[in-house]
Amino acid sequence: MSNTRRSVVRRSVEPHSVTTPLVSPLYASVVYRAADADTLDAVYEGRDKGFAYAREGHPNAEILAEKLAWLEGAQRGVMTCSGMSAVSAVLLGLLEAGDHVLAGNQLYGRSLRLVSQELPRLGFATAMVDLCDLVAVERALRPDTRLLLVEVVANPTLRVADIAALGELAARHGFLLVVDNTFTTPLALRPLELGAHVVVHSVTKLLAGHSDVTLGFVGAAEELLGPVVENVMTFGLNASPFDCWLAERGLNTLEVRFERAQANARALAAFIKRQPGIRRVLYPGDTDHPDHALAQRLLGANPGNMLCFELEGGRPEVNALMRALRDIPYAPTLGDVCTMISHPASSSHRGLAPEARAALGISEGFIRVSVGIETLDVLEEDFGQAIAASRDG
Ligand SMILES: *Cc1c(COP(=O)(O)O)cnc(C)c1O
Repeated sequence: MSNTRRSVVRRSVEPHSVTTPLVSPLYASVVYRAADADTLDAVYEGRDKGFAYAREGHPNAEILAEKLAWLEGAQRGVMTCSGMSAVSAVLLGLLEAGDHVLAGNQLYGRSLRLVSQELPRLGFATAMVDLCDLVAVERALRPDTRLLLVEVVANPTLRVADIAALGELAARHGFLLVVDNTFTTPLALRPLELGAHVVVHSVTKLLAGHSDVTLGFVGAAEELLGPVVENVMTFGLNASPFDCWLAERGLNTLEVRFERAQANARALAAFIKRQPGIRRVLYPGDTDHPDHALAQRLLGANPGNMLCFELEGGRPEVNALMRALRDIPYAPTLGDVCTMISHPASSSHRGLAPEARAALGISEGFIRVSVGIETLDVLEEDFGQAIAASRDG
């Protein structure tokens, strides 16, 4: 009788199996059940390993963070809900009241906003510097400079920052070097090996690779990562299990995707350069790129999947190109399996005055390409006909 009085509500048990799943299960559970209060005590005090509540950690985030930490050569890593939350968690976790923060002047738009507007609102002094000018960087340092936030390859000008030199500067002056490695990935560069203290990623981009998750990652040595992890839990910057699960799946193909996308980018840069109506092409793997030697030293055979070109002409030609492209969308992200273009003057850099854009070399005709893994002939065909169409208006 009593065994007929079951409830279907939360009474399922883990099915017994002497075999284990090949693919990581998706742990949607928000909460974990403990046998008794002593058990949970042991978990909270670190004497036993366990999960308690998903905002404070869950298996899918842990599996992915461990893989990314390994790829970056970091002692420990943590997943966050976006690339921006990864940057935020680092700043929230590692700054003390009164600290001065320095940042590259060509960072991802929201990172620039965070440093130039949000940090000052919270009482931090900040300054932006040209990372290609090491003398200027050193001159901008103050005794209270706690942290320098940089990206390896600038968006969209693809200028390369000398991470090794910045790492030496950090060691000499005792500030924390935080490197956003999103454009480069640990396959091209491992910033922690070059003197960086913290590495961050928008996992949304190349690492996950399919434009279907929004995720971030922070990797560092234990003593630096501890406070960052605390802030992820406290400010609620935690990643969703499903996003981590999808990103883990995407990561399986990172190497082949990156290799293919880079081979495509190199070939496409050469192809676009040969088309009439093109003012210039920027690709760090090209000998005529202003930072080619540095890119070669730092990134070796991995100059990345990003290239830029400038059309002769302006907005009408750009609009005509966008409309003519058949398979390549105008969509403001990067690192997807699909090739995409973006137009900095009207999107990422629309907030800048035209003179400031001009100083960066971003004209109305400037197009950024995130090269994907299509077969090269498809890309050449589409860009070839669209560039021709842009000349005809
Ligand atoms: C996209 C991006 C970010 C922000 O990442 P989200 O996942 O969109 O929050 C930060 N840094 C760089 C270099 C990026 O490209």
